[in-house]
This record gives sequence, C-alpha cells and structure tokens, in this order.
Amino acid sequence: MTIENLRGFDSLAVHAGQAFDPTTGAVIPPVHFSTTYAQDGIGGLRGGYEYGRSGNPTRTALETQLAAIEGGRHALSFASGLAAEDALLRAVLAPGDDVLLGSDVYGGTYRLIARILGPWGVGLRVVDMSDLDAVAAALAERPAKIVWVETPSNPLLRITDIAGLVRLGHDAGALVVVDNTFATPALQEPLSLGADVVVHSTTKYLGGHSDVVGGALVLDDDALHEKARFLQFAAGAVSGPLDAWLTTRGIKTLGIRMQRHSENAQAVAEFLDGHDRVARVYYPGLPAHPGHELAARQMSRFGGIVSVALEDAAAARRFAESTRVFQLAESLGGVESLMNYPDEMTHASVRGTELAVPPEVVRLSVGIEAAEDLLADLDGALSGL
Ligand SMILES: *Cc1c(COP(=O)(O)O)cnc(C)c1O
Repeated sequence: MTIENLRGFDSLAVHAGQAFDPTTGAVIPPVHFSTTYAQDGIGGLRGGYEYGRSGNPTRTALETQLAAIEGGRHALSFASGLAAEDALLRAVLAPGDDVLLGSDVYGGTYRLIARILGPWGVGLRVVDMSDLDAVAAALAERPAKIVWVETPSNPLLRITDIAGLVRLGHDAGALVVVDNTFATPALQEPLSLGADVVVHSTTKYLGGHSDVVGGALVLDDDALHEKARFLQFAAGAVSGPLDAWLTTRGIKTLGIRMQRHSENAQAVAEFLDGHDRVARVYYPGLPAHPGHELAARQMSRFGGIVSVALEDAAAARRFAESTRVFQLAESLGGVESLMNYPDEMTHASVRGTELAVPPEVVRLSVGIEAAEDLLADLDGALSGL
C-alpha cells in the first residue's frame, strides 16, 4: 500500500498533496509565504515556481487534495467561491452566449452573471432544475453554453437529478456545472455522474471552521483546465498561502464532519417537523421531501442544511432572532450552528427577482454540537414565539 494507491475518501482527504516536507521531515507541509523563487541561472526553476500569483507550493498542495477528493484530474484554488465562478464563466463564455441557471442558486452567482457579465453581452435564463422537462423546454427554445445547478439548492433544498441533467445538457451542447458547496464530495460526486465542472465555495464546509474565505474549480478536461488556469494567473484572484493552508487543514476532517452535520440535521429536521409552530420543513432526509428518493440515490447522506417555513414573516424573523446556540449570522458549513433569515440576509440581492426566497423561511446551518443542546435551543425559541 502506498499513498498513490489510496482510494477511500477520508484517506485521500488526509493524505493527497500532503506528503511530509523532504528537507525537514515535517509531517505537516509548511505554509510557503515567499512571493518569489531563486533561479539557478535564468529560467532555472527548482520546483516550477517563479512568482506567487503564477504558483505557490501551499496552493498546489490544496489543489492536489481538492482534485483527489472530488475525483477530478485538475483543481484550481481561488480567493473566494465567486472568484472561482468568475474565472470559469470567463474561460467558457463569449458575448452572445447564454447561461441557464437553477432557480434557487446562490444569490451571488445570479448577481455575478446578471450584473457583471450581463453588460458584457452574456444572457441569463432561470429554470427550476429539479424539473427536467422544464430544462429540456428551455434548452429547446434557445441553446445555452452553460447549464449551472446547485443540488441540494439554497435555501429550499431542492434536489436535481445530476445524471439526468447532464444528459439533457450534453445533448444540447452545453457544459454542465455543479456547485457542490452544500453536499461536498464527502456526500456527492458530480464528476462521476457526468458533470463537466464542480464549483466550490470552500468558505463553507471544506474550510469548515468559518475562518477562511476561498473557492475552487475541479474538472477533467485538459483544454478547459488550461483556460481556467490562465485566468487564475492572468486575472489573479488566487488564494493566499495561509488561506490555502487553512482550507487544507479543514478538508482533512471533512468526512467525519459531514457525518455529524448530517446526523444532527436529521435530528433537527425531525424535531421541527413534529412541532406545531412550524408550517413546513425542507430537508431531503425527510421521507415526505419531494427529492428524498433521488437524494438517497445520489448522495451518501443528506447534509447539514435545514430550512423551515413558519406561519408568516414576523414569526420567521422572531424565531431567527431568538435562538442562542444557533447564532444569527450569514454563511454556513462551519462546526458551529448558524441561523439565517434569507430574505434580508444571504438572499437580499435577489429580492424581487425570480430567485427571491419566501419571507416566512428561515435557514439553519446545523453544526456539530451535541444534538440535545441544539434541539433544546430550538424548542426554547419556538415556545417563546
Ligand atoms: C457562499 C457560496 C458561494 C460563494 O462563495 P464565496 O466564497 O462567498 O465567494 C457560492 N455558492 C454557494 C452554494 C455558496 O454557499
């Protein structure tokens, strides 16, 4: 058995790209802060590194780890999830091209395409990706260069059949991109289902500790990788060395964290589902969820995000403001539990658009604390409404 033969997800997360430092034996690869690299004569590079924007060994270590855990040939690390998305979109699109976007994708993705790429001539259409007939109709009406989906989606946890979407997208000549931020490769492997590119906000579960912003692309195609690599270098939205290192450290525990997040989220969803102050629970692990069976096939667990509808917007706001263990904050995917009121927080930028979130909905990012404490916190908040 050698490191190169490792196949298990958790083994790859711990070891891929993480060989000990050959000069000192340090088991944890160092953070390389140097912005420049001594040359043995002009052009004589020792490890292929010459300047920190074009390449950095700590970033390489993260990219190797990311490619391994997503099962892709190539990975690229960026300063944020949106920086990764921007590089991919500009690598693929030209003026006149269209993007077909899922109807509850991350608001910032919509904003990036609508407000930054739109004025440069990129068209945007929105469709419910969990409805493959609607996707087929949209592609028949006009071709799209990219079909972009999030599954589970944010915040309504809709589940899309990735393999089915890939068939439709590829038949129509589109590139199929999956934002795998919510599921993570610990639970779902879009490339193995035929997707062309996986996008991540590593700020969320991959970093996992709410202490580093970052993003990534993972893909197999060599030519598209070259284009995206050129944008990473030439536009320069690279991840810094310490950010890359923190993300690497987070990824090593991703598998066990996702297990606990999923167990706690299931307990929270079941508790809320039975509560008389809650109108509706959105969690793919509940048998009544419309995507439950598909999620059970496509994912190994159901993930750590639960959304709930209260009776009205006022009750939702009060609930979001009255938990104590669940802290009221944007973002998700850290070890600590968070509450979010999408309409005014994470999804404020899509208010009034096709992506608007119902105002009675609250999103919970369920952390890895003891489930009994989480349930007691939610019970206290609901009984005070
Ligand atoms: C947060 C998020 C993004 C954007 O990532 P940043 O790191 O904040 O730039 C993209 N997609 C999803 C699903 C997200 O949750």
